[in-house]
Amino acid sequence: MSVIDLRSDTVTQPTPGMLEAMLGAELGDDVYGEDPTVNRLEQYLADELGFAAGLFVPTGTMSNLLGLMAHCARGDEYIVGQQAHTYKYEGGGAAVLGSIQPQPLEMQADGSLDLDRVEAAIKQDDFHFARTRLLALENTMQGKVLPLSYLAAARALTDKRGLALHLDGARLYNAAVKLGVEAAEITRHFDSVSVCLSKGLGAPVGSVLCGGHELIGKARRLRKMVGGGMRQAGVLAAAGLYALEHQVARLADDHANAARLAAGLGELGYAVEPVQTNMVYVEFGERAEALKGFCAERGIKLSAASRLRMVTHLDVSAEDVARVLEAFSAFRRI
Ligand SMILES: *Cc1c(COP(=O)(O)O)cnc(C)c1O
Repeated sequence: MSVIDLRSDTVTQPTPGMLEAMLGAELGDDVYGEDPTVNRLEQYLADELGFAAGLFVPTGTMSNLLGLMAHCARGDEYIVGQQAHTYKYEGGGAAVLGSIQPQPLEMQADGSLDLDRVEAAIKQDDFHFARTRLLALENTMQGKVLPLSYLAAARALTDKRGLALHLDGARLYNAAVKLGVEAAEITRHFDSVSVCLSKGLGAPVGSVLCGGHELIGKARRLRKMVGGGMRQAGVLAAAGLYALEHQVARLADDHANAARLAAGLGELGYAVEPVQTNMVYVEFGERAEALKGFCAERGIKLSAASRLRMVTHLDVSAEDVARVLEAFSAFRRI
């Protein structure tokens, strides 16, 4: 029995074509700037997303950290959502390592931050206050796509108030595929963007931070400082390049599978939230732990949470979705 892992889109195995690309990658020492495959990946994403430069890093957490630290100095502040990855799920790195104060705000149901509340949170130039420098958004946010008109409004506000605008685009390409636009239509509103190669795109490791020359120059120095300068990293960058060249359009399959899963669960009477991309959220309450065990016996891996998140990806097929629905149906009857 094959295992179906719905915990995250980080669990994918490299595809045969990806492994072949990794084996054939031309390598050099990237700390010297001499890995041709890393250089190609950085330039590919910078060009595609409309930035001057890119920087390959091991994780999205590091990519966001370097972005925040490149924008903000000690005693500066960034405005961010309460549930945003950069605030809630990165060990407090911006505060710990960058001495950057977060100003978290409640998020709206659609994954955005109310821009009036953002504006109200920007601090006056007064020595009592941290200096507000940056607004950080996330797209997709828990599977939700921020509308392009919202991004334009956020850009207009940050321009008006002299803030920089950073995007945690861990799942940028899910948003672009869902909207049916080039990724640059999203990223053109931002000063910097972090993209994960190791989520739905299916690479084993890696993220890329994109921005202007000066910002990426600062981030390169900071990457070395936090221990993220890798040597023959082209073996990993090759996987990322392969993912960008071959595994973007197929994200639509993940979205279709998530929609299928949500529709099936709805028919079974489960309380499913509306689905936009590759994440399905279901309210389980106290039965979550029992469900996790029940599914584990049937080769289905779930996270245990009362608001259960299920994520579709490269290694989840339409047949797998049918098997998951059978298990949920059986669980309903016990
Ligand atoms: C996964 C993720 C990251 C980065 O995570 P790493 O595990 O450090 O690569 C950043 N932001 C969001 C929204 C994510 O989902």
